[in-house]
Amino acid sequence: MNIDEALRLMPKTELHLHLEGAVDSTTFAELAAKHRLELPPHAVASDLYEYDSLADFLDVYSLVSHSIRDRDDFQRVTYECLERCVNSGARYVELFFSPESHLQVGVSYETMLEGVLQGVEDIQVDLGLVSNLVPAINRELGGYRAVEFVQMVADHRHDRIIGVGLDFNELGHPPEAFVDAFRLASQVGLHRTSHAGEVGPAQNIRTGIELLDCQRVDHGYNIVEDARLLADCAASQIPFTACPTTTTYTSAFRDLGAPDHAIRQMADAGLKLTINSDDPPMFGIDLAMEYCTLYHQMGFTPDDLKTFALNGIDAAWIDDQTKREWRSTWSNEIDGLLSQVV
Ligand SMILES: [Zn+2]
Repeated sequence: MNIDEALRLMPKTELHLHLEGAVDSTTFAELAAKHRLELPPHAVASDLYEYDSLADFLDVYSLVSHSIRDRDDFQRVTYECLERCVNSGARYVELFFSPESHLQVGVSYETMLEGVLQGVEDIQVDLGLVSNLVPAINRELGGYRAVEFVQMVADHRHDRIIGVGLDFNELGHPPEAFVDAFRLASQVGLHRTSHAGEVGPAQNIRTGIELLDCQRVDHGYNIVEDARLLADCAASQIPFTACPTTTTYTSAFRDLGAPDHAIRQMADAGLKLTINSDDPPMFGIDLAMEYCTLYHQMGFTPDDLKTFALNGIDAAWIDDQTKREWRSTWSNEIDGLLSQVV
């Protein structure tokens, strides 16, 4: 087999994937038609998947979110998203979703949760994929609302709801405002992560770790501006969820082949990096393609890619016994696959 085939089959985690960013354009067009959603003038759904900044992207993300309205829609987009993960070799997924985007248009949290959980259960029965859910705070709505949001999540606990994230536009919405929300998340036993240092300063990463008590950093590329923080995070081995293709659209690091690309610098500095796909159909990729990109465009070796895949197990919010078992079985499986590459 060739290297791309081996990388596709390689067992992996997916820890940074947004449900609403994982709706393909065909499904979006069908849901938009089903709910008579008004698209921008002259637009067809597939042409909307083009953007040049995080703000542009978030406009389209909202439009897609608003096309998902009823329980069946949520089941469908969850199932389709996780099915693509299986086709990329994912064995375990922690899936972000953005409840605020649906609450805004009158969809209840109960409705979205029922549909998403059904999709998660169905994929496990049909294809064996284990997935958990991470509702994400929309930081643009401010710290007070974030506390209410975490309380809502806590009031609807389910074994598959294992943590909270913090996303949407980092600029103008620094993490300091979310101390109370993250403290509440910790008190009710939810894991914590936040998007930080993607378009905002490296300080947002430190604040996320030290003030919000985050256990992971989502993106985190601007850490390369802060040598001290880079050294601290290499020492602590806090995991970073990197998404290579996204960097070329939304971050300052647009040339994947550049020797000073943030992901290259982060790896060289010894950070615990995991590889993820963020919003795959909206960027024309899937998880396996991200591993291929690291190999073909960024110069990472097959051994590096194995390390990234196994880092995903360390970074996952699962029990230690499962981590040990997966590390052993996945490691053997990856060695077997890589030995067949010609
Ligand atoms: Zn993200």
